Amino acid sequence: MSEAATSSDTTNQTTTNQATTPPVAVAVGNPPAAGTTGTDGAATETLYCANHPDTETLLRCNRCGKPICLKCAVLTDVGYRCKECIRGVQSSYFNAIPTDNLVGFGVALLVTAIASPIAGFIFARFAFGFFGIIIAFMLGSGAGGMLAQIIRSAVGRRRGRYLRHFALGGIILGVLIGGVIGLFFGIPVLNISTLIFAVLSSATAYQILR
Ligand SMILES: [Zn+2]
Ligand SMILES: [Zn+2]
Repeated sequence: MSEAATSSDTTNQTTTNQATTPPVAVAVGNPPAAGTTGTDGAATETLYCANHPDTETLLRCNRCGKPICLKCAVLTDVGYRCKECIRGVQSSYFNAIPTDNLVGFGVALLVTAIASPIAGFIFARFAFGFFGIIIAFMLGSGAGGMLAQIIRSAVGRRRGRYLRHFALGGIILGVLIGGVIGLFFGIPVLNISTLIFAVLSSATAYQILR
């Protein structure tokens, strides 16, 4: 009789070690397919959207943790978030002042208008033909990175939602003005090499400024 009592003690020990994992139901990746109720045992708790109390959901905002339905969820690079958290993140992330866009536009225009006749001259003199195309591919993104850094420091390193759009506009207008300036000095600014160079550098600047 005493042997039976000790064997039941050991079974009690093994059961206490389980069931200590908290019921976490934070959706990070894709939303679970509809109709998966209680099959995996982890997300059986019924949630209702914080904004739509009648809508059942399996999603939670992965920042503040509140339940949200698919209508309220916004898919970001880091998973689903509620609209309130998206707004909060963005208003603290973008700290530009209104003049920054104009400064970005002006600086991009000025730098490109000066740089493109110089680049056109260098390409026409030293790097023409196929060699020029290779040089354009090699230096284009580097030049765009430099331009982005110049624009960044001109706006006090603040982040603006539309800064890259204004910068791109300045670059395009700057290339056109630079082309006209080049014509006055007899420099062929617009050829295949300088075009590749311009497209690569402006695309890079646009990417960096986002
Ligand atoms: Zn949230
Ligand atoms: Zn909702």
